[in-house]
Parts: sequence; structure tokens; C-alpha cells
Amino acid sequence: MLKWSKLGIKNRLIIIFIVIQLLIIGLSFYYFSSNHREFYLEQEKISLKHYSQLMLNNLEAEEILNSSQSLQSKAAEWSADSETRITIIAADGQVLADSHYDITEMDNHRNRPEVVQAIRSGSSATAIRYSNTIGEEMLYYAVPVREQGELIGILRTARPIEFIRGVLIEDIKSYLFFFVILAAITILLGWRLTNSIVKPLETVTETAEKISEGDLTQRIPVRKYNSEIEKLARMFNYMAEELEEKITEISQEKNRIEAILESMVDGVIAVDKEGKISLINPAARRIFNIEAEKIKGKEIISSLFSHRIDMYLQRAFDKKESISREIKYKNPEQKIIQATFIPLLDEKENVNGGVIVLTDITELRKLETVRNDFVANVSHELRTPLTSMVGYLDTLLESDIENQETRDRFLKIIKEETDRLSILIKDLFNLSKIESQTFDLKAENFKEVLTKVVNLLEKNAEDKNIDFTVQIPENLPPVYMVPEQIKQVLINLIDNAIKYTPAGGKIDIKVEKEGDKVYFSVKDNGIGIPKADQERIFERFYRVDKARSRVLGGTGIGLSIVRNIIKQHGSEIQVKSRKGEGSEFYFYLKAAE
Ligand code: ADP
Repeated sequence: MLKWSKLGIKNRLIIIFIVIQLLIIGLSFYYFSSNHREFYLEQEKISLKHYSQLMLNNLEAEEILNSSQSLQSKAAEWSADSETRITIIAADGQVLADSHYDITEMDNHRNRPEVVQAIRSGSSATAIRYSNTIGEEMLYYAVPVREQGELIGILRTARPIEFIRGVLIEDIKSYLFFFVILAAITILLGWRLTNSIVKPLETVTETAEKISEGDLTQRIPVRKYNSEIEKLARMFNYMAEELEEKITEISQEKNRIEAILESMVDGVIAVDKEGKISLINPAARRIFNIEAEKIKGKEIISSLFSHRIDMYLQRAFDKKESISREIKYKNPEQKIIQATFIPLLDEKENVNGGVIVLTDITELRKLETVRNDFVANVSHELRTPLTSMVGYLDTLLESDIENQETRDRFLKIIKEETDRLSILIKDLFNLSKIESQTFDLKAENFKEVLTKVVNLLEKNAEDKNIDFTVQIPENLPPVYMVPEQIKQVLINLIDNAIKYTPAGGKIDIKVEKEGDKVYFSVKDNGIGIPKADQERIFERFYRVDKARSRVLGGTGIGLSIVRNIIKQHGSEIQVKSRKGEGSEFYFYLKAAE
């Protein structure tokens, strides 16, 4: 069923209007028709009164007292003249004459209300009632007939009043037309009035709805009247403008903040007081290796990251102050993160959220470790020859060593250690130079550099009876390089191959052009490098077999120099090796054509 409250203001107003209209029309009809009826009855009464008066003048007291037959003819005659029923009744109620009925069949009329009242009051009386004799509603008028002040009878006149209804219906019919037109006009005017009030209200509601759906450009058209609704519309438009301005400002501010957060190197996570994530920037996602789609703003921080993060966040919330901690996080790589937990407090100092700022310090920590290791390694590497030298020198100084041979042996050892120190210092110096400078690459002849190095080291290979082959294509294009540095690389790689290949072994050097790259490789069938060590041999001072390297005069720096130089050439040094079977080191340089 339709509910009144759901009808809408327009329909409700129209219904109320129509109901009021119908009530007014109905009441008017009622008032109008009862007034008319009264009027006609009054007219009839007057008319009956006049007739009665006339008849009384012609009525002989004798006739009544003697119940004369002439009464009946008089009644008939008068009735014919006046279209009125005339009854003459004796004082005892007996009907003496009736214009319309046979009196012998009529009962005693003493109890008829108009007769009773006329006798009681001694003057005229009226009554409207249903006539049993005639069978319709009649207006009766009764006057007492007196003879010398004595009541001798009643003259009663009566007329049916049915005709009044007919007259009234005719009247109503003629007025109804007028009422219908009036009702139509008033309903039309009411409709227009309702519309003029409701329509602007509907526009306000529709516009408000559109604004609430997000279309802030919507405005209410303001007409030139100055009604309350126009004032409301103007206020509404003003509010919408303000809102649009504020929202634009806020969204610009939001975009700015988002752009800052997006471009930040540090990770930022914002959470509400329940620990649910409301914002996470790309840097934070990178640190935790999490896809953006996985976070829809509902996840509790502990469900995504380590429980430690949740724990420190809670601690910061409890203490209401910032906490900074270093956290280790694995997904899948181990990372070291510097995390600062900042609680956000409202004006009542209650926690209503928090921000976590994250800095990935894995590389920093690695560098620190490398630096610390390096310092430890350098001091160790320097101390070893120095200790040995000091030992031999002390022996030489303190004890009398007569034996010339022994002294020479000691001095030779001291000389060797001095040479080692000198090489070590030279290598370290080289390394730091390579690390600190940037190379200016030029198109140079690779074959020339390689030939020089081969000439330099061929003798060492020959000494160890190593089968030494070199393959260089004839039309090798120039490559981008710094010849001095590449020469160093080639020396280190080929020297290592000779060093770590037992006598009678085999070394193949190959240069090949592939696309815009020139590949160099040196392959030996020497002692090889265990898998676990292959990644580490390029680190400074790392040696698979320290003692062996030392005997062979190695410092453990050669390959890290190689790696650095090749890196500066935009390439990478790589190794393939198997323990006991041999090793192959290779890299490429960019061809200049
Ligand atoms: P080193 O001065 O000790 O040769 P490098 O940095 O040149 O230092 O080499 C590091 C380590 O790599 C060496 O100590 C050696 O154990 C291993 N190595 C390098 N080249 C070869 C090779 N061709 N065959 C086997 N092992 C090698």
C-alpha cells in the first residue's frame, strides 16, 4: 500500500488541496440546499396561511357545529382553486370534510401533531410529516376555528412538499455547472501554485543528489524572483561553489603529497589506530617486495609484514612518542631496514594513527662490512710480510750468523717480502685509482694491446711448458676502451691462468666478434675453482687457497681490479670453472663500428 510519508511533498500537497476543495464544495452544497429548502417551506407556509385566512372568512360556524354537507363541497371547491388539500375537523377530532378523501374512511384526527398543537396553543400550527392517507411527505397548516371565542373546529390545509426536492434538484443542477468550473479553476490554480513551490524544491533536491554523487559542477538555476526558495537556491549554489573550491584545493594538495610520496626514496606507510594500512608508497612496497594490488587499505600491518613492525608500532602508540629501530626482513632477500615509528596524536593527545618511515640500509651496511673487512685485510696483508721481515732482521742483528749462506738466504727472504709489500701497495693504489676515477672510453685497437701482453707473458708459459694458443680474427674492429686499463686486465687474467695451471697444461686465448660486441676469453685446464668460491674470487683479498696464492706471489687483488675495470667499460667479467678441470674467464667490449 502507498504510504503517505512516501508520497512526496508535491503529491501530498495536491491531495490535501483536492480534499479541501471537495470539502468546501460539499459543505457549500449542503448549506445551499438546506437554506433553499427552508426558504421554500417558509413560502408555502405563508401561502397556506393566506388561503386559510380566506377560507375562514367564508366558513359559517353553523356548518361546523351541524356537520353540514356543504362543508364537503366548499372544501372541494377551495381545493380546486388553490391546489391544496383542505380538511375541516371538528373540535373532537372528527373529520367533517376533506377535499381529497372520503371522510367516512378517515379516522379521528385529534392526535395529528398539527391539530394537537393548534388546539393546545389556540393559534396556528405547522407540521411536516408523512401522510398515511396520501402516502407522501406533506406540509400541514392548522388554524383553530372559533365561535364567540369558543373552539369549534380546525381548518387544516396541506400541500405535498415533494415538489421542493424537484425544485432544489433543478437549482442544484444549474449551480453545479458553476461549481464544477469553479472547482476546475481552483484545482488548476492549486496545481500551479503547488508546482511553483515544489518544482524549485525538486530542483534543489536533484542538484543536491548529483553533488552528493560527486558532480560538483552542478548548480541550481536561480529565477529572478526573490522568494525564500530563490534565497535557498542562492545559498545552496554558494555552498556548492565553496565545496568545489575546497575539494579542488584538497585534491591538489593530495596529488602533491602523493607525488612527493611516490617519488620518495624512503618508504612511507600510514596506518589508522587499529593498525590498518591507509597508505603505502612505492618505495615501501619495493622494500617489502609487495604488489600494490595486494594492499587495499584494509590489511592490518602485522598480516603483511613481520610481527616486529606491529610490535614497534604498538610500542610507539603506547609511549606516544617516535621509536627508531633497525629491522631485518627477508622476502626473499635479507634486507636491513631503518624504521621510524611515529604516532599521530589528535588535539586531546589520543593516538589516531601512525606513520612508519623506512630506509633500506642493506647496501650501506654491506659497504660498511666491506670497508671493515678491507681495513682488517689490508692490515693483515701488510703485517704478514712485515712480521716475517722483522723476524729475520732481528735474527740478523741479534745473533752472530757467521754462515754467509744463511745470511744471504735471510736477506733474500727479506728482499722477497719487500717486493711483495711493494706489489701489494702498488695493487692497492691501482685499485683505489680505478674505483675513484671515471674512464674516458675511446675506439682503440684491441689486438695491439693483447699482442703486447702475450709477448710479455709468453715466456712464463714457456717456462712451465704450457701449450699457449691465441686466436684473433683478422678484421677485428676497434673497441671502446682505455688501453692501459685493458692491458692490466689481460695481464691479470692471463697471469692467473699461467699461475694456476700446472706445468705441461694448456691455455687457449680467444677473441671473437659477435654483433656489436667483441668477446675475449682465456681458458686453462689448471686447478679450477670450486663452485662456492666462484662468486667470491672477485672480492678484494679473496683467495681460494691462501698459501698457494702466496707462494705464487699473488695478493688477492688482481681479480677485483679486473672486475672494476671491466665494470667501468660497461661490461662484466664472468667465470666458468670446475675444480680440478680448469677455468675460463671471459668478458666483452663494445665494438666501435
Ligand atoms: P691472486 O693474486 O691470489 O691470484 P686474484 O684476485 O688474481 O688473486 O685471484 C683470486 C683467487 O682466484 C686466486 O687466489 C685463486 O684462488 C683464484 N683464481 C684466479 N684465477 C684462477 C685460475 N685461472 N684458475 C684457478 N684459480 C684461479
